[in-house]
Amino acid sequence: MRLRNKPGAEEKLLEYDQYVVAKPDEWKGKWQDRFEKKQPLHMEIGMGKGRFLIEMAKQNPHINYLGIELQTSVIVSALEKQIEEDLPNVQLLQVNAQDLKTYFEKGEVQRIYLTFSDPWPKNRHEKRRLTYKDFLISYETVLDDQGELHFKTDNQGLFEYSLISFSEKGMILKELYLDLHNSDVEGNIMTEYEEKFSKKGNRIYKTVAYFPEQD
Ligand code: SAH
Repeated sequence: MRLRNKPGAEEKLLEYDQYVVAKPDEWKGKWQDRFEKKQPLHMEIGMGKGRFLIEMAKQNPHINYLGIELQTSVIVSALEKQIEEDLPNVQLLQVNAQDLKTYFEKGEVQRIYLTFSDPWPKNRHEKRRLTYKDFLISYETVLDDQGELHFKTDNQGLFEYSLISFSEKGMILKELYLDLHNSDVEGNIMTEYEEKFSKKGNRIYKTVAYFPEQD
């Protein structure tokens, strides 16, 4: 995501600590207490400006949504949407997804969304891709047994890489769309990037995958 400095963004994130988690390590194993109701916890990693997260939360009040984003200048746009909506089932978290296991207990999460993750096309940056095997290991840890990973991108290279990475980790594909916007899927909610890239004519790929249960 292109970064512009937003004056006052850091102060705003601190000011609205009812929406933006200030000390994420203190919530490990207790994320349900951050929300009004105890109900399934879904997280979006790299939520950017938060349109998908906020819209999903509005449509699914029986799910708690946690938006994770690294960059101050974009998480603040998600915060602005949440200030407007004041949804009881949305919380925002500014951390690096690399550290998920520091902040979440085993099996604490029911679903993870990866939406238009940075492709990092150079081989030497493979480890930064959010579908690199080390990330999959943390997703497997924090997801519960029925937990799912939902992944959407317009980047064919990243999509193919990710399918191989999922397969090497023994994940099972539940759904696969090679052209999501021309499939008979109802109720797809577009992210900011999804709208931008599909307007340019890019195809949108999606898969839903899960880890087999260990015995
Ligand atoms: N999901 C949004 C934004 C996609 S851009 C949309 O579809 O519109 C990818 C986003 O992932 C960027 O905002 C970037 O800051 C964030 N990101 C990349 N690596 C991350 C990481 N390791 N942890 C948290 N966020 C990350």
